[in-house]
Order: sequence, then C-alpha cells, then structure tokens
Amino acid sequence: MSTIGSRRSATTPHRLNVLELLGSLISLESVTPEDAGCMPEIIVPILEALGFTVTWLNNGAVTNLYAERGEGPGGLLIVGHTDVVPVGEGWSHSPFAATIVEGRIYGRGATDMKGPLAAALKALYTVVHGHGDSLGRIGIILTSTEENPSHDGTSYVVKQLGSRLASYECALVTESSSAFEVGDRIKVGARGVDEVEITVTGVDGHVGYVRPDMAAIPSAARAIVALRHLDFSGYDAESPVKTELHATYVHGGSCNALNVVPTTCRFGVDVRYSPGITWQRVRELVEETARSAISSEHCSIQFQWRGKPGTGDPWLSGYGPALDVVDEVIEQVTGRKPKHSTEGGTGDGRFLPKDIGVIFELGSCTDADNMHKPNEFVGVQELLTLVRIYRMLFERLLVDSRSEG
Ligand SMILES: [Zn+2]
Repeated sequence: MSTIGSRRSATTPHRLNVLELLGSLISLESVTPEDAGCMPEIIVPILEALGFTVTWLNNGAVTNLYAERGEGPGGLLIVGHTDVVPVGEGWSHSPFAATIVEGRIYGRGATDMKGPLAAALKALYTVVHGHGDSLGRIGIILTSTEENPSHDGTSYVVKQLGSRLASYECALVTESSSAFEVGDRIKVGARGVDEVEITVTGVDGHVGYVRPDMAAIPSAARAIVALRHLDFSGYDAESPVKTELHATYVHGGSCNALNVVPTTCRFGVDVRYSPGITWQRVRELVEETARSAISSEHCSIQFQWRGKPGTGDPWLSGYGPALDVVDEVIEQVTGRKPKHSTEGGTGDGRFLPKDIGVIFELGSCTDADNMHKPNEFVGVQELLTLVRIYRMLFERLLVDSRSEG
C-alpha cells in the first residue's frame, strides 16, 4: 500500500506523471461546489506551460475556467469538473489521500472524474510536446459544480462564451462512461429527467360507508394506470431514445387499520424524456392525464414537481466523422468498438451548444459500482489505457485531420 501525489509533485516542469497528478488532485478536498485549488494550483500551471490562454469565469462560490490553444477549423473541446460528491460513511482508505492497493487507486473523485481528467491532461501534455504548433484548436471548460446541478457551472460558461464554442467540431466530456472495461461504452446522449410526487385526497372513514369512487387509493390507482399508458410516440418519432414513465412508490393508509379508508394516497413518478418533448409539455401531459383519470368530485389531486427545470434536459450527439474516429481509436487500443449509449444520468454535455456536431462522454468504468460511494477507485491499468485512448484521439482529431485537410 502506498500513497501518491502532493501539490508540488504534479507540476514538475520536465515531466508529468498521471498517477502523481491524480494523487495531487485527490489530495485537495474539492467537495462540490468547492474547487479547493485544483484549478489554480495544479491544472492551470500545466495548461499555461502547454501554451493555453486561461480565462477565469468564476461565478459566486463556483470556480470555472475556459482555456484555449491553437487555431483553425474543426477542433476539440474538452469538458470536465473538479468537484466531487461528499465523502459519506464507510471508507476503509482515506478519501483524500490517493492510496494504491492491488492495482487500484482509492480516493474521492478517483473515477468521477479526477482520474479521467488527469488522464486527459497527461495525454494533452504528450500530444502538445510531440506536435506543438501543428496542433489544431483545443478548448477546455472546467467547473467546480457538476455534482451539484446548477446553472453556475458549465451552463454559465457556455452562456458567457456565446458563439465562440459553436465552431468546435466535437466535444469530449471526460465523465465515467465505460461499463466494465475502458472504452467498451461511450455516451452519446441522455434523456431528460423530471420527477413528481402526486397526492390524491379523497373521503376517509369506515369502509362500510365510503364508496370506492370517493376513496384516495383506488383513485390514485386509476391515475397510475392512466399515466403508465400515456403515449409519447408522437414526440419520440424522430428520436432514437424513447420517453418512459415509471411509478416509483405508493403510500396510503395504515397496516394497523384494515377497515379504515385513508384520506390521502401519495405516489411518485419519474419521467425520462426524449429530446422530442419539452419538460413543460411533459408536466402538462402528466397533470392532464392524472386529473382526468381520477374524475371524481370527491377527490382532489396535487402535484409537487421535484426536478429543477432546465437542469435535467435531454441531449443527443450528432453523427459526424469525429465519432467514427472515436470508434476507430478505441478499437485500435482495446480491440473492440464501443457501444453507443444514452443510458444513465445526464452530464454537462446537455449544456453545450447544439452546433457542435459530435458530443460524447468517454471515461473510466461505472459498473464496478463505486462512483459516489465509499472506497471510490480507479484501476491503474484503466487509467493508463485511458491515457492511450485520449492521446491517440487527440492526435487523430488535432494533427491528422489538419494534415489531411
Ligand atoms: Zn462526474
């Protein structure tokens, strides 16, 4: 067992060791929305040494930056975050010390996403040193508030930069996207998310005196069935991902009172929606459908929406040639092409301008089930494979395409 990384070791000018860099980032307690020095102390000195011009776009307590280097058409935008989720209980390693045990580096943020971010910086370092001025345009957006969904981070940066980002050919979000092995899966979109708790209030009393159409539980049941049959196909026609709605819990009455009709029945509904429909229309349809299913003068219905409008929006990449390059590079390094997926949560890809033809997430593995949990880790080999994939990808996108064009 050993511990790696200190603030100084990562930025030794003549070399850049990805493990030390990751160790240094993990040692800073950047619990969202804190950056804790990750950008100014560690990342920016590296970027400046590589010839990037760094623009700070801080917003309240949130640290944001945009860095750019090189010029020309096409180009690659890299999007990442330095914040991590709170530590929580149950760690057997120090969450802020980057401990290596049996080929794994443990620490908060090891996989989400200080590991992939360190890999991308290491790959950039190698590519810039190898190709220098012949490289195309590279941009980097970093924020310290991705884990705490808000409009102060990447969304804010994108607004500040306006049309400057629209001309990028593709954007890489260094979010954990792989399943069991690096590169077995990339993410090319995500459905939008909204959630609501619905409360049906009816007539309560002794079961002998309350008619079923007056009661909360059967009315809520009718609403759940009606919502389950809500037809979104008209909205999803153009989209490869489909809108789905799930009832997530039901609560009403008491197990100790089998002969009492309760006043209320509450249930939860989660909607994952395609880019073909807006969150406003999702909410209208859910409310109209549930209301008309109840259709009893004795029952009332209330909706408490939990989603933050705009923060869970869907996004979907276009299919430009850059995506073929991603597939080819991954196949070259790992021996197989990645699966293109839109599963899982929604990352900062959703905030990027739609003019960027190709937007994808490519990072470490999620299916070891350690993200956001105690003993979060990234495998040493996993990290080194990621460096190779990123390096070849940057070369293909930033060197080869220029010499071909
Ligand atoms: Zn993340």
